[in-house]
Amino acid sequence: MLHSICRLVVINEAEQVVQNIEIETISHVHDRVKIYDRRSILLTHARIKSYYLLTYGIITVLVAKAFQSVMFRHCRTFSHYISKSQTNYVLPKPVRILLPWSTFTCTTSPRSHSTNIKMRSYLQYMKRKVKGVPAPPYNHVCQVGDPVLRSQAAAVEPRDIQGPEVQKVIKTLVKVMRKLECVGLSAPQIGVPLKILALEYPKKMLEDSSIASVEARGLEAVPLMIFVNPQLRVLDGRTVIFQEACESICGFSASVPRYLSVEVSGLNEKAEPVRWQASGWPARILQHEMDHLNGVLYIDRMDSKTFINVKWEEYNE
Ligand SMILES: [Zn+2]
Repeated sequence: MLHSICRLVVINEAEQVVQNIEIETISHVHDRVKIYDRRSILLTHARIKSYYLLTYGIITVLVAKAFQSVMFRHCRTFSHYISKSQTNYVLPKPVRILLPWSTFTCTTSPRSHSTNIKMRSYLQYMKRKVKGVPAPPYNHVCQVGDPVLRSQAAAVEPRDIQGPEVQKVIKTLVKVMRKLECVGLSAPQIGVPLKILALEYPKKMLEDSSIASVEARGLEAVPLMIFVNPQLRVLDGRTVIFQEACESICGFSASVPRYLSVEVSGLNEKAEPVRWQASGWPARILQHEMDHLNGVLYIDRMDSKTFINVKWEEYNE
């Protein structure tokens, strides 16, 4: 009897446990179904979103390409006008306009050398349409090949130095020189064939140079100096050879011999007479800029075997 009762209790307990397990299982399964439901909804949303983005991307690219092709055709009709307005002596080049978001962006140069087509973004094109074709003094530096770099610069009338035109040239010269962080610039380099040069070696630049370089090259800080109608006199006829570069021959460098010490005399930006003796690196800068006023570039004086592309190593990486 006791045994039967015990058995019944055990069976009851076992059924209860089984029931509990079933309830738990059902509840667990129910939760999992809920989770799966939620996950499938999220997945569906993500899929819809990705399809939407993909479609949107394809449509954007197609529209951009169509727009670019239309603009390219449109701009070719203006290309001769643009080129002719820029110079009278350079053969007209077709201008290809790039959309700002175009995949065909030029990373190294705005000009495609292989096709001889000047690459210009649509924004640049619109800017040019609104502001007009730039005229000297330029806010950029003319590059080798430009006839202005090979012409003999003309002397400035002393009474014109404080006039608005010459003052604008001087102001632009200093602005461009500082923008490019170069230590000297001449007026022909910004498209003005006048005998004006600027020179400045900032202290910050000197501090960034190694002591060995300062000593070897004779680097020294020079405040901003403007020379109008400068004349150069050699004080020490010995020459030193160092690698130098020029903003008008962008990306290259070569060893050039220069006199050790020189004296420059002329007028400053206020038309006052100035005389300055320089040696070491400032003497090199002066000789380099004086050459520009005579249509001479460093490549005319260099040791041609030392002529290098300053990024030649990067091409092998
Ligand atoms: Zn130069």
